[in-house]
Order: sequence, then structure tokens, then C-alpha cells
Amino acid sequence: MTSPRVNLLDFDADQMAAYVAGLNEKPFRAKQLMQWIHQRGVSNINDMSDLAKTFRTTLLDKAEIVSLPVLKDEHATDGTRKWLLDVGAGNAVESVFIPEDGRGTLCISSQAGCAVNCRFCSTGYQGFSRNLTAGEIIGQLWFAEHLLRNDPNAVRRIEEFPTPGWEHTGRVISNVVMMGMGEPLLNYDNVITALRLMLDDRAYGLSRRRVTVSTSGVVPMIDRLAQDCPVALAVSLHAPNDALRDQLVPLNQKYPLKELLAACERYLPFAPRDFLTFEYCMLDGINDSDIQAKELVRLLKDIKCKINLIPFNPFPESGLKRSTAQRIHAFVNILLEAGMVATVRKTRGDDIAAACGQLAGDVVDRTRVRERAVHDAEIVQSEQPIHWLNKLDD
Ligand code: SF4
Repeated sequence: MTSPRVNLLDFDADQMAAYVAGLNEKPFRAKQLMQWIHQRGVSNINDMSDLAKTFRTTLLDKAEIVSLPVLKDEHATDGTRKWLLDVGAGNAVESVFIPEDGRGTLCISSQAGCAVNCRFCSTGYQGFSRNLTAGEIIGQLWFAEHLLRNDPNAVRRIEEFPTPGWEHTGRVISNVVMMGMGEPLLNYDNVITALRLMLDDRAYGLSRRRVTVSTSGVVPMIDRLAQDCPVALAVSLHAPNDALRDQLVPLNQKYPLKELLAACERYLPFAPRDFLTFEYCMLDGINDSDIQAKELVRLLKDIKCKINLIPFNPFPESGLKRSTAQRIHAFVNILLEAGMVATVRKTRGDDIAAACGQLAGDVVDRTRVRERAVHDAEIVQSEQPIHWLNKLDD
């Protein structure tokens, strides 16, 4: 019986070097492979023309370069593009590309479904299926970057890539945010491998400032991230006190705000910028009052941070409404007048359900979480599920 091929997208630079050494090839072959795969987007080993023919023959027998199959490819009128990707067993994950002046941001997923089960999240509704492999995570960037680069109508070239090997073409994706489906810090090892590839000059060469991990607050892993790969950190806060956050983000019951904010303080010296981002989804009548704005100021006033207010992007099952423009305006003004740095995010891709999990939610509800959540919401009015929408950093 032949052994399954390894997916070369699973390897960061060190792992690729070890793999190549295991095939008794010289170390520079690993660098060549990295450039063929990640910089040039080549998946056919026969097309890697400067590899020795014998090495190509070996690789054809033992290895492959495959990303997740595309189930849907949706284009929004504002240029946002969203892919639904097949992860097998009836499950799917999403990636979203958002073009803006001077940059292109890709939001990628780290897990199929999510076990954290935030009460406001479409992904949480679907239950947890499995962790994505490192190759499936970085494969979202690999696929989108090379697809978009070859589509002159779909992209605005962002800037020339400064790394040798990229001169022939412009970079398309300048920023990556791990804000798609799943809690990245609960798929830690695979996420770290993917992050290292994003930062590696032999692969995508993104700066740490342009790669963001968003977490619901897995405190021990925030500390590990600071040591292993300190990229920009965004924390999904959504509530100014433990009582409300316990309901909206159940992980808060394990890592309450005091512990979470202490971890944020410890992360700051390692962060690529001198502040962290707190995400706060604006929910009509749930977390958007003047009193809650003042409470948020008291909570965060001693942390160097930016607060990103996100108008809720409704989805059918949520039963919740976006805060009104007037309410968001009043809320942000309280933050600004108190000296906080705060912004209100533009919503993008409304016409293709760009909020994470909405497209995949049409495909699968594996664990009947959605059904249970609706049942719970009927019992506990204050615990209505809400949604966290497309949390794309400024
Ligand atoms: S908000 Fe994030 S952590 Fe919470 S259920 Fe959704 S994907 Fe998971």
C-alpha cells in the first residue's frame, strides 16, 4: 500500500528544511520549494523547472500542494469577495478578501466550526467540527493571493513586494487577520506554523503589524503567543463587565476580564505596535447604552488600546438588531471624550453575508447548536444569540 502524500503547504521553513534533508537533498532545495509554492503559487511539481528532475520525480511520488476545494465564490458590489471552502464531512469554512485603498485584507479561518460557542456568533451556532491543519490555514492565503494576482479585474495592486522572487508581480494581499471561523488560539500549533509562513520572507514576507490574531480570550495562549510569534492582537470584548460577557462570550467564565486584561498588559511589550485592539460589536439594547460606554472607559482606561466598534451585521437566526447610527455615534463620543482611541468600522460585503460563519451556516449545522441556542433564547430573554460579524482591523 502506498503511503499518503504529504502536503507541502503544511511546512514552515524549518519543517521544509527538515523534510528536504530527509530526502537527502541539499538545503537550498527547501528554499527553492518555498519560493515556488508560496511566492509563485505553483502547485504542479513538474513546473518547478530549476529543481533537478530526479528530485521532482521523488516529490511527485511523495508530496503534493493542495488547498481546500472551493464550494462557493461570492463577489459583493463593494469588491469584497468571499470563498466557502470544503473541509470534508459536510463541513465548510470561509475566507474573505476586502480590498481598500492602499491595501488588501484577507480574513482567514482556523477551525471548522468553533467550540467556544459564543452566544452571538454564527460560527458558534454550528458547533465544533475539527481544527484546520497548518496547510489548510496557510492554504487560504496561498489560494487567494495567487488567484487574485492573476485576475486583473478583481484586484488593485497594493505595492511591489520587496522580496527577491516577487519582482515580476505586485502583491495583492497586504494584511491578514485571523478573524474568520474558529478560535485561533485553540488550534495553537497549526496557527503558529501558518503565522510563521505569513511572516517569512521566503513565503509571504508580511510584517508583524500586518498580521492580526483575534481571540475571545484564551489567557494562557496569549502568553505563549507573546513568546512564540508576537503579531498584532485583537481581543473580542463585546461587553464592559463580567456579568454580560459571561453570557456573550462563555469563555469569560473561565478567564474573566481581570485575568484577560492582565494577559493583555503582559502582551503589550511584545506587540508589534504599542497598543492592542478591542473589538466591540454594537447590539441594540444589549451593550450599547451610555452607562455601558462609561463602564468600558473605566475598564480600559489604563491599557494602551484602540476600541473598534462594530455595527452588528444581522443574520436571520440572531433575533438581534444592529444599534442605530445615533446610538453608535453617542457611544463612540463618550469614549472619545474620555480620551480613548475609538473607531467605528465600516461594514463590508453585506450583500454576500460577509460576516463570518453566515455562508457556512447555510451548509451545515452539525451539532444542532443553532436549535439549542434558539431554545435557550426563548427561556432566557437576556441571552439572545448575537453575532460578531466581520471583525476586520483598520
Ligand atoms: S466569536 Fe470566535 S471564539 Fe466565539 S464562537 Fe465565534 S468563532 Fe468561536
